[in-house]
Amino acid sequence: MNRIGVLTSGGDAPGMNAAVRAIVRKAIHYGIEIYGVHRGFMGLINSDFVKLDISSVGDIIHRGGTTLLTARCDEFKTEEGQRKALKNLEAFGIEGIIVIGGDGSLRGANALSKLGIPTIGIPATIDNDIAFTDNCIGFDTAANTVVDALNKVRDTATSHERTFIIEVMGRRAGHLALYTGLASGAETILVPEIPFDLNAVCDKIEKGYIRGKLHSIIVVAEGAANSMEVGKVIQEKTGLETRVIILGHLQRGGNPSAYDRILASRFGGKAVDLIIQNTKDKMLGLINGELVITDIEKVLSATKPLDMELYQLSDVLSF
Ligand code: ADP
Repeated sequence: MNRIGVLTSGGDAPGMNAAVRAIVRKAIHYGIEIYGVHRGFMGLINSDFVKLDISSVGDIIHRGGTTLLTARCDEFKTEEGQRKALKNLEAFGIEGIIVIGGDGSLRGANALSKLGIPTIGIPATIDNDIAFTDNCIGFDTAANTVVDALNKVRDTATSHERTFIIEVMGRRAGHLALYTGLASGAETILVPEIPFDLNAVCDKIEKGYIRGKLHSIIVVAEGAANSMEVGKVIQEKTGLETRVIILGHLQRGGNPSAYDRILASRFGGKAVDLIIQNTKDKMLGLINGELVITDIEKVLSATKPLDMELYQLSDVLSF
């Protein structure tokens, strides 16, 4: 293989740049030409390729976001769009592609593999909702960002003796909510995977106040419930002053943590090793500290379960 490409796609995640840096430098180490594709799959359709060298990825290991830019591209979901992308790759002599992104991006990588082009997927999403890897690039950084925000909210919550509802990202998965809720000592964590009863949540808050607690923090994954509605119900039922904060996109930004930089560097380096062997349709993951390689098809048909041990622990610790 003489020429490969790399793209970042879907929601950005801190650490994507560190992965691109590792891919570019490892490829150059092997004497392979490496092209960056701008704006994810849209760049494949528009032939938006740029040759990368050692210095093009200098000074980016510590930056959040993605210097290759990312986008959502519905045209790539169609067979016509995929064929156009393949034609452009062939015309450019790009023989393999590394896709960095979340669940949707892995579906795109899978579609490309089916057209015959070697494709490696690198999981990167702050939702951490991809099976066959303990961590996705960006999750550790986002969790630290949320915990930092929750520390700040706790100061004001205690001073004003208020109940705060904090909505964190996670439309289909509660990993970020669970992890940050436990790390912040939240009273309640609401996640899409587990049904909940708001009456029980209110009882718990009231008992806390009777016991002399000065505040309550409830972490809600965006897919678990409408956080504004949760706040309204809690205020009505308990009579306690309640505030809702939606953390939103700030969770995606910021310098990647050391953990995410190292994870990204390991994934990036290994992805090049795999692609030069013409490997098709594989995703890299990290399980118990070891790099593992799984068929993307298999990854996409699985759901990563919520860590119930952590959930139960958070419940026990927060009465
Ligand atoms: P993420 O990768 O963060 O989950 P999306 O779900 O938005 O983000 O997916 C990113 C892009 O991946 C989409 O805009 C589209 O170009 C591509 N994609 C998603 N699903 C498919 C699919 N089923 N087939 C082909 N490409 C897809």
